[in-house]
Amino acid sequence: MPLSPYACSNCGHWQSYFAVPPDCPICSDVRNDLPEDGWDFRTPADLTPRLTHHRREVVPGIWEFWSTPRVGLDSHGWLLLEPGSACGNVAFEAAPLYDEASLRAIEELGGIGTLAASHPHGYGALWQLQRHFSPDLLIQKEDLQWTKAFRVTHPWDERHEIRPGLVLHHTGGHYEGHAILHDASRGAVFVGDALKLDLDEAGQLAALSCHKAYHKQIPLSPDEARRYRAVFETLDFDTVFTPFECATDVPKSAVLELLDLMIAGAASTRPVPVPHLRPPVHEGRAA
Ligand SMILES: [Zn+2]
Ligand SMILES: [Zn+2]
Repeated sequence: MPLSPYACSNCGHWQSYFAVPPDCPICSDVRNDLPEDGWDFRTPADLTPRLTHHRREVVPGIWEFWSTPRVGLDSHGWLLLEPGSACGNVAFEAAPLYDEASLRAIEELGGIGTLAASHPHGYGALWQLQRHFSPDLLIQKEDLQWTKAFRVTHPWDERHEIRPGLVLHHTGGHYEGHAILHDASRGAVFVGDALKLDLDEAGQLAALSCHKAYHKQIPLSPDEARRYRAVFETLDFDTVFTPFECATDVPKSAVLELLDLMIAGAASTRPVPVPHLRPPVHEGRAA
């Protein structure tokens, strides 16, 4: 019996299965809520007529792909244009599904040579991008258990340099294999769910939070926060991408201050208003 792709309506996770799947491993895990009305799985043929697909160049050289209405957790895909680089264009995270026009647009932008993601909540339709573009597919080895819908071609360990200045870092925490991507030349970091951004109506950063499990509001342990901090401390950035949004005004000092609160034992998933995270005493340390 041929395997077919099925998306969980509750979280958007795709599985390749020989029949309608019996359950969703992501929703069954403690880090996501179960659907209240039972399982509902959709095929690409189910979703295609319902979805409108969008794309825009969100900052120079980085394209955003998403669809409406939302599917599952509503992941967005980011495409980093890398003309002349041996790695080719890099796609990080993925939209829930891509239509023909989106795939053609990616082709016209130079295709995809490297595909990666922070953790399962950002996977979206990675399987579809892999089928269409046959890129290298990089996932931190601790998260291989969630990747049956596609084929990981390069499992990696603690750090993986895609090209000089474009580096994947293992953070663990939210998921065992959770990873972030730092783009030094653009001053950008793709943080997965290591950070949750609350934006105001103008799209400006209003508050920051972090969590082990968002739906259940489980905070990070102090050691998990310590590990996040050790990674973020080494990176320079002001632009932050999550699997869901982007902000260009995220002070590194505010990220470090938030993590310092967790390390100090203020275990919480409560968003901290950014003005509270900018005490002058920390600006020098975090520069
Ligand atoms: Zn699910
Ligand atoms: Zn997540």
